[in-house]
Amino acid sequence: MREIILIKNGELVLKGLNRNTFEDILIKNMRKALAEIGEFTFKKSQSTIMVEPNDDDIDLDDAVERLKKVFGIAALSRALVAEKDMDDIKVKTIEYLGERFEEVETFKVEAKRSDKKFPLKSPEICRELGGHILSNYHDLKVDVHNPELTVTVEIRDTYAFIRGNNIKGAGGMPVSTSGRGAVLISGGIDSPVAAYMMAKRGIELVSVHFASPPYTTELAEQKVMDLLHKVAQYSGPITTYVVPFTELQEAIRDKCPEVYFTIIMRRYMMKIAEIIANHQNCSALITGESVGQVASQTIYALGCTDVATELPVFRPCIGMDKDEIVRISREIDTFQTSILPYEDCCTVFTPKHPKTRPHIEEILEAEKALDSEALIQRAVEGARKTVIK
Ligand code: ATP
Ligand code: MG
Repeated sequence: MREIILIKNGELVLKGLNRNTFEDILIKNMRKALAEIGEFTFKKSQSTIMVEPNDDDIDLDDAVERLKKVFGIAALSRALVAEKDMDDIKVKTIEYLGERFEEVETFKVEAKRSDKKFPLKSPEICRELGGHILSNYHDLKVDVHNPELTVTVEIRDTYAFIRGNNIKGAGGMPVSTSGRGAVLISGGIDSPVAAYMMAKRGIELVSVHFASPPYTTELAEQKVMDLLHKVAQYSGPITTYVVPFTELQEAIRDKCPEVYFTIIMRRYMMKIAEIIANHQNCSALITGESVGQVASQTIYALGCTDVATELPVFRPCIGMDKDEIVRISREIDTFQTSILPYEDCCTVFTPKHPKTRPHIEEILEAEKALDSEALIQRAVEGARKTVIK
C-alpha cells in the first residue's frame, strides 16, 4: 500500500500572486520538521501539497504528529494511492479504512474529480463506492449531513487518492513569511504563549531572557530553555540571548524610588531587547503582558514601557483572561514547565506598593540617577547566544 500525506493550506489561498512564495516557504518548513525521520518528496497541486515518503519504512504517524505543529496548514490527511479504476478503488477503500468502518456507525462518501475524463461523474462514484461499503458492513448507515466518517475519493491526473477524516492543522501562516520578532521570554505562563501566537502569524522568533544570578538560578534558566524548546516545535529554531541583568537591577534598587522599581526594570528590558532585535533584523518586540494582570501591566504602566523603545511592541495576550492563556499553554504543552517554582528576575526586589499610575516624566527623572548607557552596554556585551531547537 502506498500512502501519502495531503496538506491543505489555509490562508495561503488568499495570497494571490504571492501564493507560490508562501507555499515554497511552507514546504521548506515542512521539510525541516520532517528532517529527523526521513526524506520526503513534496508536490504542489491546486490548493493541496502532496507529501510522499521516499522510503517505505518511514513512520507516517510520527510525520503527521510533526506536521500538525507546522503553521500554515489548515488540515491534513493521510491518503492511500489507488489506480484510477473503480474496482481498485473499491478494494483499496475496504482494505485501507476497514478498521475505521468497524468503529463508526455513520459515514458518507465524497468524490472530487479533477480529471474530467474519468468515466464516472462524482455522484456516480459516491453511489458506487457507498453501495460497496454498505454491502461489506451491514451495520453502517449513510448520513450525508453529520457523518462520523467521511470517505473522500479524489481522482487526479495520474492516480486516485482515498482518505478518511481530515486532521486539523495548526492553522496560521508559515513561519518566516511575516518577518522577524524578538520575544522577551520569562519562565512564566504568558510569554511562551505570546511567542507561540506570533509564530502562528508567520513571525520568525528570536528570544531574549534576562537572568539575575545569584538571585536567579541555573534551574530557572534551564526552565526557560525548556519552554523555548517546546515553542520551537512550532516556530522552528529560536536564536536566544541570555542577558546578565543583576548589575542593572541592583543599580535600580540602589538609586531609584522603590515604587518605580518594576516599571523602570521593564523599560530597561525593552531598551536592551531593542538593541538585540536590531542586531538580529527583528522588526518588533513581543511580550506576554495582559492589561491589568499585575501592577506593571496597567494601561498607564504599559504606556511608560512602550515609549522605552522605538520598535512596535506586540502583546498578543493583551486582552486575554488568565484562564484563556492557560488553555493555550496546555495545548502547546508549556503549562507544566511554566508552573515550576523557580525565581524569575521580576520577582527579585519587587516593591511592596508599586505605582499603578506612573507618569513618564517622573520615571525619566528617576532614571537620571542611573549610568544608563554604560549599564545597557555591559548587559548587551555580556549576553550569551544559543540556538534552541
Ligand atoms: P509571564 O508569565 O510571561 O512571565 P507575567 O504575567 O508573569 O508573564 P511579568 O512577570 O510581569 O508578567 O512579565 C511581563 C512580561 O515581561 C513577560 O510576559 C515577558 O514578556 C517579560 N519578562 C518578564 N520577565 C522576563 C525575563 N526575565 N526575561 C525576559 N522577559 C521577561
Ligand atoms: Mg513572569
